[in-house]
Amino acid sequence: MTTGYITHPDFLKHEMGSHHPECPERIQAINDQLIRSGVDRLLHHLDAPLATEDQLELVHSPDHVSFVRERSPESGYFMLDGDTIMNPHTYRVALRAAGAAIAGVDAVMKGEVENVFCAVRPPGHHAEPTRSMGFCLFDNVAIAARYAMETYGIERVAIIDFDVHHGNGTEAAFFNDSNVLMCSFFQHPFYPYSGLDHASNMVNVPLPASTRGDVVRSIVEERWLPALRNFEPELVIISAGFDAHREDDLGQMGLVEDDYAWITKRLKEIAIDYAQGRIVSCLEGGYNLSALGRSVVAHVKALADI
Ligand SMILES: [Zn+2]
Repeated sequence: MTTGYITHPDFLKHEMGSHHPECPERIQAINDQLIRSGVDRLLHHLDAPLATEDQLELVHSPDHVSFVRERSPESGYFMLDGDTIMNPHTYRVALRAAGAAIAGVDAVMKGEVENVFCAVRPPGHHAEPTRSMGFCLFDNVAIAARYAMETYGIERVAIIDFDVHHGNGTEAAFFNDSNVLMCSFFQHPFYPYSGLDHASNMVNVPLPASTRGDVVRSIVEERWLPALRNFEPELVIISAGFDAHREDDLGQMGLVEDDYAWITKRLKEIAIDYAQGRIVSCLEGGYNLSALGRSVVAHVKALADI
């Protein structure tokens, strides 16, 4: 069984101004490193279709979807919030990002690939059911999780979020939802200042700035893995943000590529034991272009056992 890779040239068309860290070059940096490392040619490349608005509405309110669509500018920019900006391509690109995550679910559920990495933008995990924020328009992983339940009858989805920022959008979509177990760590106190509310299905671990990989690994072993084994997920979805890397200036944590590889291997063990190996991993943050590309290579190598 192989590892799938989903990306699309459209992901280069959404841009939010010349100094915005969530930039098209992030996708190019990932592609460059995958090719340079020799990993790219071992992956099964899959297309990223457009999601339908009905699919967005598995998670988002119809009012939110039409609000975003109607704000799409014919030229220039529209600011959804202080750092979430639309250009004329953005709406369609956001549909494709969600569509990539959905295509990832289809590919693993149909057994075309064992697991899949989706190099998408805009990211999704800050987008709440009724609000875009934090570079995110629609919550790609939440939509993928709901799609897997609706289309394939999956009853238990684990969503793992290792971005340096808390995935408030995903939490809002599934708060106290027994069909989903969400495991995350995040820098705290830090944007978006959420993740501290108790819910039966949230394993949130706030961590101080400067936390390094050894501490994160013990958190994974002591907090995530027992909860995941108890939950027995049928599908594992990853919000794969790489901004907890020590070279990333948008966070102040101290992970390195080996930590992402280690975490991915542990998640792969869970997926093999309970979910027939099925993992759909979607890019979230990661803003130092070199560290991002290297970290994705480490993550994908672990997914692919190479
Ligand atoms: Zn982030």
